[in-house]
Amino acid sequence: MRVTAILSRVLGLLLLAPLVMAAGPRPRFELVPLGVSGGELEGDSSSFLLRRPGDRTSAVMIDAGSPVSGIMRWKGVDSGRCSSKIRVDTVLATLDHTRAIVLTHAHLDHILGLSLMSPLVLEKAFKGVTTPVYANRPTVDTIMSSLFTGQLWSDFTRIPSEKTPTYRLNVLAEGAPARIGAFVFEPVRLAHPVASSGFFISTEDGATYLHLGDTGPTGAVWDRARPILAAGRLRAVSIECSFPAHRATLAVKSGHLTPPLLVFELAKLAGLGALRQPDPELFSMADARDLVPRLAPRLAGVRILVTHIKILGRDKLVRELEMLRRAGLSLEILEQAAPVLF
Ligand SMILES: [Zn+2]
Ligand SMILES: [Zn+2]
Repeated sequence: MRVTAILSRVLGLLLLAPLVMAAGPRPRFELVPLGVSGGELEGDSSSFLLRRPGDRTSAVMIDAGSPVSGIMRWKGVDSGRCSSKIRVDTVLATLDHTRAIVLTHAHLDHILGLSLMSPLVLEKAFKGVTTPVYANRPTVDTIMSSLFTGQLWSDFTRIPSEKTPTYRLNVLAEGAPARIGAFVFEPVRLAHPVASSGFFISTEDGATYLHLGDTGPTGAVWDRARPILAAGRLRAVSIECSFPAHRATLAVKSGHLTPPLLVFELAKLAGLGALRQPDPELFSMADARDLVPRLAPRLAGVRILVTHIKILGRDKLVRELEMLRRAGLSLEILEQAAPVLF
């Protein structure tokens, strides 16, 4: 392993430390990252299970990049050593407890597993249980017109029968919160080349988790989040950070964030007065570091969970996040199969 890679790993572990040490109000959410990479790492693409702490029988899956690999890693099933029966039983047990699947957007690193795991989800349909899938309208349309077509993949919204199919797709519309599993999901549109949603996910006592899908610099979501932050109800925000700082132009063009752009988004959440979106090329790590002391106190108590780091440039990006952390911003990098309570 190269020295930089070892250093990056150590910094990554330091960033993980708050996962273990954090204390606060009684947790209302348990987030199990089944896949966290920004697309290229096999078996680690965006997928999460969300459930109430202590509730082992009801979960909602958010995105389905490579959930099967994630479930096996989470459950400690070694695909090289365990029999196929143990592997299949382990995955089926988790899918049995997955009440619904919610998708942020239609990019493959977020939906590929919806197709690849469908022969396993099909088992539930044979037992009379259809798994509902929720997403914004363009995502539902893309899945039906491009994925479940019979060419790329069979139409599992009709298999094994029209009456009890494997999946039933539902539109989750902005401004229309929907009860899904133990939570209420309220979608909000982000900035990405395709329609990408973030979700305000709340419990009946108002505790809220904001799960963002892929996004570049955006706005409406922060306007909606600020009152929840002010009311002390915002428990955590998971937010993407795909590229290191020197790839800012590429990041913005492809609808993604870098560490400095991530800080600028958090400044919008913190409500730091009138902020004009900076030129991504000119807004440096030093500029971002200067903002941190102003915004960090306003976000005290909110877990900032970073995800979707692309494997190329990961070491540099992790070092940049560590710089921001040293400046006072509490950031945590989500790791596959490492659950987080908040
Ligand atoms: Zn995307
Ligand atoms: Zn993605």
